[in-house]
Order: sequence, then C-alpha cells, then structure tokens
Amino acid sequence: QTPISQLFSADKPLLSVEFFPPKTDEALEALMDSVDDLAIYQPDFVSVTYGAGGSTRDRSAQACNLLREDHEYNIMPHLTCVGASRDELAQTINGLYETGYRNIMALRGDAPKDADSFVVAKDGFAHASDLVAFIKELHPDIAIGVAGYPEKHPEAPDLATDLRHLKTKVDAGASFITTQLFFDNGDLYRFLDEADKLDISVPVIPGIMPVMSLKQIKRITSMCGASLPAELEKHLNTAGDDSERVRQIGIRWATEQIQDLIEAGLPGVHLYALNRSDVATELMSAFRATAEQP
Ligand code: FAD
Repeated sequence: QTPISQLFSADKPLLSVEFFPPKTDEALEALMDSVDDLAIYQPDFVSVTYGAGGSTRDRSAQACNLLREDHEYNIMPHLTCVGASRDELAQTINGLYETGYRNIMALRGDAPKDADSFVVAKDGFAHASDLVAFIKELHPDIAIGVAGYPEKHPEAPDLATDLRHLKTKVDAGASFITTQLFFDNGDLYRFLDEADKLDISVPVIPGIMPVMSLKQIKRITSMCGASLPAELEKHLNTAGDDSERVRQIGIRWATEQIQDLIEAGLPGVHLYALNRSDVATELMSAFRATAEQP
C-alpha cells in the first residue's frame, strides 16, 4: 500500500473511486465482482466509506480487505470520530496500520440517524482536525486525506469560517483534500481561490457524483448542502421518469465537469460512483480519454 501523498505528479492527474460497504454478504460479493470491470482504468486509489454503526464498520473493514487482497488496489479506508473514544480510535488506526494500510480519510462524521446533531463521544474528538493530529502522532507515515466543501459545510456560518477550519486540518498534518460533490465547477474554482489566500497548499481532489435520479440527488444535495444548477435540473425534469435518459444526462454532465477540471490542471478526480460499476467505468473511461490526450 502506497501513501497517496507520494502519487501526486505535475503531469498526471490521479483517478480515485469511492465505494460504500454493502449491507449484505451477497451485495458485497456482487460489488467485488463488478469492481473487476474497473481494473482496466487503473484507479490510483479506491476509498471505502465508514458507517455510523458497529456492523457497517465491520463491513467497511471487510470491503477494504477484499479490495486489497482480490484486486491489489491502493486503498484509502475512511474513519470518523462518531461514537469512539481516543483508545478505540487508536485501536482502529493501529489495526489498519498493522494490516498494511498507509492511507486514512480522517473525518468527524455526522450524527447517527436517531440524533439531531453530532455529539462528541466520551473521551473522543470534536473535530476532524483532532483526529488528523492523533493519526499523525501515532503513525507519521500514514497519508491523511480530509474533506473540503466547495459550497461550505452545512453547519458552517460561511465559507471563510469553514476554510479556516480546513486550514487547521491541513496544519495538523493532512496531505490532501477530497471535496464534497458539486455540480458547478465555478463553485470549486472560487473555493480554490479562497483556499489559496489562506495558504492551503496541499493537493485538492474534486469529488464528482453523476446524477442517477432526480429524487435521489435532491435527497443527497439537501443533506450535504450542495446545490443543483437550474440548467441541470431543467434537463432532468425534461427526462421525467425515463431512467435511461436521466442516466445519460447525469453521465454527460459529470463527464463535462471532469474534462473541464482536468483541463484546468486539477491534481486528480474522485468519483462518487454509488457502487455502480457501469457508471464508474463510463466516467473512468472519459477521465482517461481526457487525461491521456497528448
Ligand atoms: P470537520 O472538519 O470537523 O468540520 C465539521 C464542521 O465543524 C464544519 O462546519 C467546520 O467548519 C466546523 N469546525 C471544524 N473545526 C472546528 C473548530 N476547531 N471549531 C469550530 N468549528 C469547527 N461521513 C461518514 O460518516 N463516513 C464517511 O466515510 C464519510 N466520507 C466522506 C468523504 C468525503 C470526501 C466527504 C466530503 C465527506 C464524507 N463524510 C463521511 C461526511 C462527513 O463526515 C460530514 O460532512 C461531517 O458532517 C463533517 O466531517 P468533517 O470531517 O468535514 O468535519
């Protein structure tokens, strides 16, 4: 396993793809089969999300191990501060390290379903920056990714405040930033300009999610605070219940975002592929076609 911080290069943007651990053994097996299809596009790393409860956490570890053993992918396990004391977090981090992982996406996490807001666990951490510093102290050679929000985190009063907190995460030892999904590249470019003013100089990997249904994306954007551009929503409305048409619109929009980001010189693209390998392969193919243009 290679620390992602060693993979960035000036002339070759990185490609990464994110999976969430499925809830059943059958779904996990199906995901592993479909992940085979991605191999030809050689993702530079694959990230696996971390759930709020115990059973999904075990599944997260299981998915990481399978992806590593069966596919030899470079993995970035995610980790959150939700419901865990420092000792428990140290156990998890040491376990990942001993298994061979050298990357962690360090997150605060969200409130569990039955709570209104994030609650600090007993002897736990209140902010992702605390987790970053903790990991760095335990294992300085782990490359740490942190979350950035082009349209600000929903709890932050404004982008400037949120960026100051992002800067704290970077100063604590984060090696790169992966962003929340966004649909208007203008939002990302503004975010980068403001981050630059604060001397946030680590690589920023923009996160792209293709729309697969209007209902689903409205739910996701309302949760994470991203906005849906009027033009995209208009296209989706004209497609109505024609799911294949919606899929095509989602892929076209994401492809255009990816092409523009690579041309703008971003150091990579992270795909929120919703465990859909068909969608992931189309976007990965678009990425490779643009990134490898002479
Ligand atoms: P933080 O950086 O701690 O920020 C959270 C809020 O607190 C922000 O509003 C920030 O401005 C504020 N803040 C930060 N530091 C301070 C401070 N010192 N004082 C006051 N306020 C402060 N969730 C999961 O549960 N599992 C996952 O696997 C997962 N993966 C993700 C991957 C990516 C790329 C992204 C973008 C998000 C992911 N999330 C995941 C969601 C994430 O957990 C939530 O967005 C969560 O609400 C915030 O996490 P954070 O790490 O950004 O927190």
